[in-house]
Amino acid sequence: TGAIISVVIFIITVIRLAVTGNFNFFNVQNAFISAIVLIVAAVPEGLPSIVAVSLALNMIKLAKNNALIKKLTATETMGAVSVICSDKTGTLTENKMKVVKICLSNYCDLPEKIKNEILFENFCINSTAVVTNMFKRNEKSVGSQSEVALLKSYKKVMDGDYQLKRSSAKIIKTVPFTSVEKKMETYVKLGDGVRKYVKGAPEVVLSLCDLTNAEVDKLLSRLESFEKSSKRVLCFAHVDISSVDDDKKLVFDGFAIIADGIRKEAYSAVKTAKKAGIDVIMLTGDNILTATAVAKELKIIDDDKNALLATDIDKLTDDDLYKTLKKVKVIARSTPSTKLRVVKVLKNYGEVVAVTGDGINDAPAIKCADIGIAMGVSGAELTKETADTILLDDSFSTIINAIKFGRNVYLNIQRFILFQLSVNVSALLFIVVSILFGFKTPFNTLQLLWINVIMDGPPALTLGLEPPLNSVMQSLPVKRNESIVKKSSLIRIIFSGVYIATVTLFQYRFNFLRVDNTEVLSATFTLFILFQTFNAFNSRKLSLESIFKDFTRNKIMLATFAVTFLMQFFIVTFMYKVFGICPMQALSWLKVVLTALSIVIVAEFYKIFHRLVIKKRRFINKKGV
Ligand code: ADP
Ligand code: MG
Repeated sequence: TGAIISVVIFIITVIRLAVTGNFNFFNVQNAFISAIVLIVAAVPEGLPSIVAVSLALNMIKLAKNNALIKKLTATETMGAVSVICSDKTGTLTENKMKVVKICLSNYCDLPEKIKNEILFENFCINSTAVVTNMFKRNEKSVGSQSEVALLKSYKKVMDGDYQLKRSSAKIIKTVPFTSVEKKMETYVKLGDGVRKYVKGAPEVVLSLCDLTNAEVDKLLSRLESFEKSSKRVLCFAHVDISSVDDDKKLVFDGFAIIADGIRKEAYSAVKTAKKAGIDVIMLTGDNILTATAVAKELKIIDDDKNALLATDIDKLTDDDLYKTLKKVKVIARSTPSTKLRVVKVLKNYGEVVAVTGDGINDAPAIKCADIGIAMGVSGAELTKETADTILLDDSFSTIINAIKFGRNVYLNIQRFILFQLSVNVSALLFIVVSILFGFKTPFNTLQLLWINVIMDGPPALTLGLEPPLNSVMQSLPVKRNESIVKKSSLIRIIFSGVYIATVTLFQYRFNFLRVDNTEVLSATFTLFILFQTFNAFNSRKLSLESIFKDFTRNKIMLATFAVTFLMQFFIVTFMYKVFGICPMQALSWLKVVLTALSIVIVAEFYKIFHRLVIKKRRFINKKGV
């Protein structure tokens, strides 16, 4: 539209020149140059750069805050997230596991009290975890933290080196742990035969043991009190067989009760997510009681009914599943395929889904999600490869922080557009109306370019540097189909555009500020520039908040606008010849500055008025009038 208006203005100017008899090459050339500059000024070419700049800056900031964003656009998608499907272990909990109790078939006690040889052999041999420097200060571990906890417990209780035990065993076959099977097996050569060690989720391992149903139920019921206090339970069994393929029933050995503390920062992160209208769904491979206990502690759910088993969900149709997920926030004993299905269904129903994962088989769900998040510490390489984002500290609160920044990018782009379109509308209105009324073109080429620098250049770009305020997380996520220019912004653009254009026009035509006749052009030009400068401060606030709230939060913006102001002073006072204007006296400056300031004052009064009206309305609503 800017280009069309420019062409129309050019034609009108040429016709007017012809009618008034001033039609010569020099004048037409001038009109032509003005038209081109007007096009440059009218086209908001700063938009792509602000988008790129704010996305890139956020990427850097988030990297410092433990979230490694791999794709530029992921920051923005992050801001739109409406559901987070999170792991439990390591993300919501610390993943610093410790064996707190051991249970045998008839009693439970501290690990130190139970020196069951075969159980501890299972701990050491039937394991893929590695702990180095165990007997020195700088202990390091690789692998599943549950297994690491078992190895440490062996060291503490038996005061032995698990590595000796593991290397002396003649391992002939291992079946590694998977989150589908939920068990691990190791076969070792023992004399002429083979000993098979099994460990895994209690109901899985117990079902393979030589036990009656009643015995299994009795053992499982003993675990309930531990599980209800957020403990994870691993079950151990073994069997001596003649060959690897012999599938004789197992001999039950015992349970290890493992504690894993909840991350302290997760409490407030979950709370923030709730306030921000983001659903948190916990998908875990763990037992339903353990999962429920953790979720209740974190206030993800407040009722046991809102936790289900993955097998319950498999039966539901997509429609029912989506409805169920409005309430059910915990899915226990879930497998990677449960995760994938949940993500798919949520996406189909229009949610923007972020999903976390650590294992290799989480990769499909991570790939399917709008935002796939891999764990930096405990994650598999392939999963990191597929993910859009890597959490360097594995923490849930880092996700919430990334969402906060993502939302802010969106807001900053809105701020920028609000500012830029206000300048655009006011400049075009002012120029078009001037020309339609037959006044001389108010701004010359150089002046238009200076306006363009403010609107598209560094001053406008500093609006993209607004830091995220906490209020960012107090509104609902933006809908996918929502326009980036909201209705309220549009009204503001039109209002400020008309206001600036009208006041500037009055000054240009009628010199209502009563400055010296020679100063009229300077005053008009300066008034216009300062209007924009002050209006930039209005643009920082998209809501009805006063601009003086958090005024100093964006120091670069303040500095840039101070420099802009000084440069305007410099232009008028020293470079006036080049700009085709005259210097102004102090009194004229004062008048111009105060008039320009009116745009802030008008806006502030409007906001106060609006707040009062809204408050009153709320008050009336409360009283039920
Ligand atoms: P999470 O969702 O907490 O990451 P996992 O998939 O790691 O859950 O574990 C699911 C269940 O599998 C646990 O509750 C436990 O019973 C069992 N389990 C976990 N790790 C191991 C392992 N290394 N070996 C055997 N069983 C395991
Ligand atoms: Mg896991």
